[in-house]
Amino acid sequence: MKLTKFTDLSLRAVMRLAVAEGDSSLTTREVAEAMDVPYTHMAKAVSRLQHLGVVEARRGRGGGLGLTALGRRATVGWLVRELEGEDEVVACEGEQPCPLRAACRLRSALRRAQESFYAELDTLSVAELSASPAGPVLLSLSGRAN
Ligand code: SF4
Repeated sequence: MKLTKFTDLSLRAVMRLAVAEGDSSLTTREVAEAMDVPYTHMAKAVSRLQHLGVVEARRGRGGGLGLTALGRRATVGWLVRELEGEDEVVACEGEQPCPLRAACRLRSALRRAQESFYAELDTLSVAELSASPAGPVLLSLSGRAN
């Protein structure tokens, strides 16, 4: 399976936010710069993460982006499913449906493989993504102290 770029940079954003605590929340621009992606792409990812309830924008002094409680305890598998959608790994249907699709054993095997892929990611929470050795590196990318 190959993740979309959108999913990948969304995961980068939650990893960076997972190591930001309290009143040191980051802006979307700072997360984009830390992860070396265009601001507009990161803004779309952050918007989607907010819609999912994973990220919140805090107002006032020390405000900025932060992970919600749901965002911290969410599994990576759940988040990737939400970001990737329900599509199968191959396009059996669509404009030119495959003639084998009614009886294809490959299709069912790929579905099982896809579920195994997500099941493995279900063993890891978003908060765990920022554990060592990733945490110190994530903090160093922004140029800001936590
Ligand atoms: S061969 Fe099977 S898996 Fe491939 S497109 Fe056709 S139905 Fe889908």
